[in-house]
Amino acid sequence: MNRIIVCMKPVPDPKHWDKVSMDPETKTLKREGIPSVMNPLDKHALEAALALRESHGGEVVLLSMAPPFAKTTIREGLAMGADRAVLLSDRVFAGSDSLATAEILAAGCRWIGDFDIVLCGNLSIDGSTAQLCSQLAEMLDLPNVMHVTGLEGTAADGTLTIIQKIENGYVTLASGFPVVLSVRKELNKPRYIPFTGILAAESKEITMLSNTDLCVGPECIGLAGSPTKMAGLELRKFERRKEKLEGTVDDIVKKLVEKIYQCGVIEC
Ligand SMILES: Cc1cc2nc3c(=O)[nH]c(=O)nc-3n(C[C@H](O)[C@H](O)[C@H](O)COP(=O)(O)OP(=O)(O)OC[C@H]3O[C@@H](n4cnc5c(N)ncnc54)[C@H](O)[C@@H]3O)c2cc1C
Repeated sequence: MNRIIVCMKPVPDPKHWDKVSMDPETKTLKREGIPSVMNPLDKHALEAALALRESHGGEVVLLSMAPPFAKTTIREGLAMGADRAVLLSDRVFAGSDSLATAEILAAGCRWIGDFDIVLCGNLSIDGSTAQLCSQLAEMLDLPNVMHVTGLEGTAADGTLTIIQKIENGYVTLASGFPVVLSVRKELNKPRYIPFTGILAAESKEITMLSNTDLCVGPECIGLAGSPTKMAGLELRKFERRKEKLEGTVDDIVKKLVEKIYQCGVIEC
């Protein structure tokens, strides 16, 4: 194995989703100031890449398109074991939809070069379109397999055995290289980050690239280059109703059970 690229999207930490707001003009989410975490499925993609590296050698490179603050999240991936990272960051990328993001990530893959596999998560927990992986494969003119639940390393004939989940079962595929895959969480259990990994990550390289390096046409990137136009976006507000039940323990339990029935959580 030569090189595996893992696309890693920093997403707003679900613990802080109450702080996500909306830009009324661009109708895009404002994520500034909200701590980021690695998109959960991308951890599974990274685990798969690390396991392949352990059995077949090669290099694992993280690839992200995100603002510069994403470096903290990228370090987590480096601490988990990736060799280095490439962060694509430029104000002209802001507002990119999935197609424009795929254009930029494809340019990033070409810039890195000489890769055998590009691994993605099946979907992100914020955008959740599940479009990125196939768009990326199309732009790189490579085969694409989604819903990967098993990767069995290279067979004797030099192919990769891939198990793909379909509606009523599983398909086993043999693929040559390079190939673009997106994974489901059943694929593996991401490893814990060791303390030594955290220390090692500090000295690993994060290469920052702008569009001056990638040269993607302005008509393909940012809001202007995004065919998806948001007609509207509404954030649901959840307000908790607080009520204190008073009395003896028996009274409180009785009132609580009545309320649970009233809410329809349990039917009589
Ligand atoms: C009009 C419009 C404007 C938008 N403006 C912004 C904006 O200003 N800022 C913003 O952050 N988002 C913006 N978005 C959201 C952004 O388009 C999506 O987050 C992005 O296109 C990826 O889509 P997704 O998360 O649904 O990907 P999915 O297909 O659900 O993701 C699958 C996998 O693709 C990979 N992946 C996805 N995105 C990235 C990435 N950026 N870097 C590396 N790997 C990735 C990951 O491996 C992920 O698990 C905008 C969307 C629209 C429609």
